Amino acid sequence: MGTHIQVELFSSDKTAADNCSRQVFDEMHRIDKLMSPYIPSSELARLNAQAHQQATVVSKELFDLIDRAIYFSELTQGAFDITYASVGYLYDYRHAKKPDDDNIKQSLDAINYRHIILDASEHSVKFRHKDTKIDLGGIAKGYAVDNAIQLIRNCGVNNALVSAGGDSRILGDKNGKPWMMGIQHPRNKNRVVVRIPLRDSAISTSGDYQRFFIQSGKRYHHIIQPQSGRPVDHTWSASILADNALTSDALSTSAFVMGTEKALQLINSLEHTEAIIIDSKGKMHYSSGLMPPTSH
Ligand code: ADP
Ligand code: MG
Repeated sequence: MGTHIQVELFSSDKTAADNCSRQVFDEMHRIDKLMSPYIPSSELARLNAQAHQQATVVSKELFDLIDRAIYFSELTQGAFDITYASVGYLYDYRHAKKPDDDNIKQSLDAINYRHIILDASEHSVKFRHKDTKIDLGGIAKGYAVDNAIQLIRNCGVNNALVSAGGDSRILGDKNGKPWMMGIQHPRNKNRVVVRIPLRDSAISTSGDYQRFFIQSGKRYHHIIQPQSGRPVDHTWSASILADNALTSDALSTSAFVMGTEKALQLINSLEHTEAIIIDSKGKMHYSSGLMPPTSH
């Protein structure tokens, strides 16, 4: 996944624990292979190559994940949109490459989750627009973390932490105490802006400092405003607490795109969901269920 994966589990049986964590890593690599847009043989790459011409049958797993992604598009009024990739694939952060205005204009119409036609009877996917492409980077890691937690439960383990990049989920607690999860300062990676005690919960952070390059003083990063095809410029980071990592992952990307006001309005309307947003002035904002904790 090009991301750091961390698995910590508490078990009195070392062999069983090693065996269990091996299963977890295997599962996460399996999902990465399935969802990678860069591996030409992946289901996702095949879908992007074909679905504008014909309805393409995919695995139930990929179908269900696309269906979930569309659910979040509807919930966030299009802020979360996996078709962002129709323009998004033109950015290459490693090589500091970005599309020019004409290229963006040409493909912008292809961004719209309503272009995705799902047929549940045969698990097929079709794209209404010839240039539409999808990418599940805003939701796949959360999904992988949830699957990992399920595997760990099946191993008979009751206390664990799984992280994949900015997405984490905690099962139980840590020796009777909550896990302390830190949120990084978006402009200083050695600084933690706040620590949050968590048990049986998921937390995801989306930031503009994960994958980016700077050109002519402007930061080009990997979270794209679907209406413009350009990186969002009003947020530094958005963290979401939720029951599961798929939800926290999708909503952290969404909140980042929506910006403080709209994001807090949405998050405050959802049960068991909280947000910490750092806007592009560096100011922190909390959803109504979070008392501002002591900062460090
Ligand atoms: P990460 O944990 O990799 O930082 P995030 O959860 O912050 O991931 O999501 C960023 C990823 O989401 C991008 O790399 C891209 O794959 C995808 N993405 C970017 N913009 C959008 C968007 N508007 N809607 C849905 N997914 C997006
Ligand atoms: Mg996300």
